Amino acid sequence: MQSKWNELRARDTIETYAEKGVSEDLALRVYTTRLLGRDPLLVLHGGGNTSVKTRAKDDLSNEHEVIAVKGSGWDMADIEPQGLPAVKLEPLRKLRARDALSDEVMVNVQRLNLLDAGAPNPSVETLLHAFLPHKFIDHTHAAAVLSLVDQPDGEALAREVYDGRMGIVPYIAPGFGLAKAAAEIYEQNSGVEGLILHKHGIFTFGATAREAYERMIEMVSLAEARLRQGRPVVFQPRDLAAELAEVAEVAPIIRGAVALPAEKQGGEPTRFVMTFRTGPEILSYVNGSELADYSQRGVVTPDHIIRTKNTPLVLPPPEPGKLEDFARHVQDAVQEFNDRYDAYFGRENERAGNTKTKLDSGPRPRKRSPRKAPPSLSSISMGRWRRRRRSLSRGSASKAT
Ligand SMILES: [Zn+2]
Repeated sequence: MQSKWNELRARDTIETYAEKGVSEDLALRVYTTRLLGRDPLLVLHGGGNTSVKTRAKDDLSNEHEVIAVKGSGWDMADIEPQGLPAVKLEPLRKLRARDALSDEVMVNVQRLNLLDAGAPNPSVETLLHAFLPHKFIDHTHAAAVLSLVDQPDGEALAREVYDGRMGIVPYIAPGFGLAKAAAEIYEQNSGVEGLILHKHGIFTFGATAREAYERMIEMVSLAEARLRQGRPVVFQPRDLAAELAEVAEVAPIIRGAVALPAEKQGGEPTRFVMTFRTGPEILSYVNGSELADYSQRGVVTPDHIIRTKNTPLVLPPPEPGKLEDFARHVQDAVQEFNDRYDAYFGRENERAGNTKTKLDSGPRPRKRSPRKAPPSLSSISMGRWRRRRRSLSRGSASKAT
């Protein structure tokens, strides 16, 4: 993995935003957040977050020490300064003295200390950024790092690869407890360049935007190099019929089965565009004799859930001349997938105090509204921004992490 830092582009970003009254710190925060967000090996849509500690004035011209941290509903790839809401830092730091703090109180304290009352909710990982002293902090759920730490001996592997350069934080769900544990581990060895969060991801820090970003690239590259030393994954192939039905025959059957029924009588069902992809890795995966097992183990990071849900729908190989049987099987399998998703949602929603909104149950990502360009800084009024923020947070399938 190579650094994409470009001094000219960084300067250009600073100048462009300076004309709109955005500070150099925030402009550089936007620049490297986008660099990270545009590489899918580092960040998938909606995942990861970044922060910068800086100074900013409120509407009464009082200056505060603030942390500008990625807001919920924003994607790192096309973040704008208003996607990094500024929160007063001192009240957040004071929270560290507490023994425990619920997510609700944490979110409330964060909102109460925003400089802009209309800003989006700061990331659920804001306190982790706030409790660390560094000016720039980058966080991703990088594929290579997860490929190491999601293994049974992941913690030992991370210690071997990073050899004291990164603090290793045990698995704790994001929130206050994780933020406190991460800060304590950093303080045990303040010479570390970042933190590896077991079964979660990686944080890197720096005095400058470039330092934090290039440490991320270097640390993820070390994980990639270690993965190359391992055995390549080979799935044992199973026996398949000599001939399979054509994609052109199979696709309409699947497309019909996963369509959303019409909302009103006489209306049209919502149909989805399908793509067919294949290649050596995909064939090795789908033709494995243990596909039914490993395909249902769940995704490596919640970022994937937005695109694929937690597990895929697995269908039998379609044999030519037996497509009616295949179609019946697809219908049943889709129904079973929906039922399982509903049961899973019901169970988890009950645990969350019935506060969640269910997306459609089918084997596909959430229905997405067409992507709009983020609002430009100069052309936005508060009312419009609030409406925009509401629509952005409605469109988000999970809380920003
Ligand atoms: Zn995270």
